[in-house]
Amino acid sequence: MVKIIGLTGGIGSGKTTVANEFASRGIPVYITDLEAKKLMQSDYVLKEIRNEFGDTVFDNDVLVKEKLSEIVFNDPEKLARLNNIVHPEVKRHFKQWLSEHENEPFVIYESAILFESGSYKDCDFIINVTAPIELRIERVITRDKTTREKVLDRMKNQWNDAEKSAKSDFVIENISREAINIGIVKILNFLRIKQIIS
Ligand code: ATP
Repeated sequence: MVKIIGLTGGIGSGKTTVANEFASRGIPVYITDLEAKKLMQSDYVLKEIRNEFGDTVFDNDVLVKEKLSEIVFNDPEKLARLNNIVHPEVKRHFKQWLSEHENEPFVIYESAILFESGSYKDCDFIINVTAPIELRIERVITRDKTTREKVLDRMKNQWNDAEKSAKSDFVIENISREAINIGIVKILNFLRIKQIIS
């Protein structure tokens, strides 16, 4: 049966970069954030969002994500309600995607909130991507053209590296592209030893 390798890491750790590296080696990769963004545009999710948050988050039937983010960002109860709409849809979609890859030895399931959401329980192995905090902040400021304060704000809602690494099977300390490649080779060797891949 196809094995699920969960891939997580704090903001700016480089988990998407690691996921892309697996994908470039021909391994199927599911990027939860990307799929969730697509699912947010489905008729079903849009209808549920309108029921829950009203017409004010829409402009001519188009969801205004900034307005929705503003509402949920500092209100845990509203964030939970949004998650209750989106997370089950992602779960359903991932299950469907997985069934299309059931003949693969393993797939990568990338999620920023693998632990926080409880999805780690569905994984056979877990990789945590880490990097020094200052490097992570710098990367996100450059990538998102944002401020240090905003990055720190997003970080405070996530589990810290030590908590995640303790619950993971592998840790990739992403301080360079080379470190990513070495980490991936080690994981592939482990899967070979376990006879998951040949
Ligand atoms: P988020 O949680 O915000 O989605 P992430 O963990 O997926 O972040 P990435 O988007 O993969 O992080 O990486 C953050 C930025 O840092 C990107 O612009 C990426 O290109 C860059 N980056 C990641 N790893 C490296 C590296 N080893 N060398 C150089 N740049 C890197």
